[in-house]
Amino acid sequence: MTDETTPGVEDDAGVETALRAGLEEYDLSPEDVALLESGGPGEAEEGARAPLPVLAVVGRPNVGKSTLVNRILGRREAVVEDVPGVTRDRVTYPASWAGRDFTLVDTGGWEQKVEGMAAQVAEQAEVAVELADAVMFVVDATVGATATDEQVVRLLRRSGRPVVLVANKVDGPRQEADATELWSLGLGEPYPVSALHGRGTGDVLDAAVKLLPAVSAVGGASPVGGPRRVALLGRPNVGKSSMLNKLAGSERVVVHPTAGTTRDPVDELIELGGRTWRFVDTAGIRRRVHLTRGADFYASLRTQAALEKAEVAVVLLDASEPMSEQDVRIVSTVVESGRALVLAYNKWDLTDEERRHYLEREIERELVQTTWAPRVNVSAMTGRHLERLVPALDTALESWDTRVPTGRLNSFLGQVVAAHPHPVRGGKQPRILFGTQASTRPPRFVVFATGFLEAGYRRFLERRLREEFGFTGSPIELSVRVREKRRR
Ligand code: GDP
Ligand code: GDP
Repeated sequence: MTDETTPGVEDDAGVETALRAGLEEYDLSPEDVALLESGGPGEAEEGARAPLPVLAVVGRPNVGKSTLVNRILGRREAVVEDVPGVTRDRVTYPASWAGRDFTLVDTGGWEQKVEGMAAQVAEQAEVAVELADAVMFVVDATVGATATDEQVVRLLRRSGRPVVLVANKVDGPRQEADATELWSLGLGEPYPVSALHGRGTGDVLDAAVKLLPAVSAVGGASPVGGPRRVALLGRPNVGKSSMLNKLAGSERVVVHPTAGTTRDPVDELIELGGRTWRFVDTAGIRRRVHLTRGADFYASLRTQAALEKAEVAVVLLDASEPMSEQDVRIVSTVVESGRALVLAYNKWDLTDEERRHYLEREIERELVQTTWAPRVNVSAMTGRHLERLVPALDTALESWDTRVPTGRLNSFLGQVVAAHPHPVRGGKQPRILFGTQASTRPPRFVVFATGFLEAGYRRFLERRLREEFGFTGSPIELSVRVREKRRR
């Protein structure tokens, strides 16, 4: 970092002041002004929020879970689906009701739509419930309680999670009596709901959010400034539990029980390179769940839940086997989550020269979007190069925390644009007016411009930003605000 006596800082400040003044001639929204004046939101808060409480929607196939989830998410879900590159197999969504923000876990759309597969329904419910603070249990009131429903009820009781009972498909007064019969499940008051028409959904949501704790007990509060939080991710059998065991070894300092509950320990504090790190959601790694079906569901759910709590993810890949679609999906889930990323190629002891040759080709082909992630080649079995994880984690987190001073950013943008201006399109050439970093964790940049910047040019700017400032191991975002000259 440059200090005040370094030549160049004054120039940067000069550039910033001049460009900032130029912006005054443009039509800025109150939001723009706030962004420009704040110099970005408080860094300490970003990326370190306590995990939101989690509400899981469970029930047999066809009882209306997906319909209910869509209703709860309102228009938001459509927006989510419109974003290209968002994985289809997403299972958690940000939701809010009555001013409460929470995470909604949708188990609909995961099962094969086959009736009567009680064991499978119960398995799926079990994994969802494990990661939830409260549960919405959906029953089809027009069918009544089935044996499968009763099996799920037993599971819910065992879990000790608070439950609201949704008597769905009560489209009108005629089905109210059906709903009443569900008292027999012993879960308390059945809420008559028509997910399809929206009837009763407000009441049941009121009841559900009352059951949610302020901070998720599943994740455990993540204190700001505590040990840095690492998620160990990867598809089944890549070696997550082996690595965890090796890393923890005799150096495991504490196994942290979630405060004030009788739940299983969720995170582990592990000492590496002389410092303590919090490996989040390790219970999910240690307790190997063997599912006959829905293993993908469990993996996705665990990945997302762990990312929510983590600052940096170590994604394990099996160096001895061809990269799979699931590997690539896990990597993109990390990038979308905005967390820092380290790639660890495990089982290096099983690779020979030929395999390593093919591996490099696979990486070039499959992971072009994440060439910025630091990479370590390790063996959880032999312990090979595990000590390289710490510098990789440090680098990634440092990038994730980086703030580029506004003056420096604008000098840089000025030089880049002078050397490579945006191409002229239809006789017009959009100009970049000013740039600022809106946040860290990950670094997000906002650029004000006189016109739309093409995707190719935005990618070029991102590439140059990385060349100039590094950001090894962190995703970065660049958004453009097109602003017009104020009419006088
Ligand atoms: P899931 O398998 O539990 O996710 O169930 P879906 O949400 O896919 O719904 C299964 C079927 O039930 C669909 O045809 C829905 O349109 C229908 N359905 C869902 N909710 C209601 C409701 O409140 N009333 C009626 N009549 N049908 C519903
Ligand atoms: P997880 O499902 O990701 O937790 O994977 P495990 O840690 O259970 O590992 C799956 C299998 O791979 C086990 O049989 C491990 O012994 C084996 N394994 C894990 N890491 C390595 C490694 O670095 N080298 C070799 N040869 N085998 C490994």
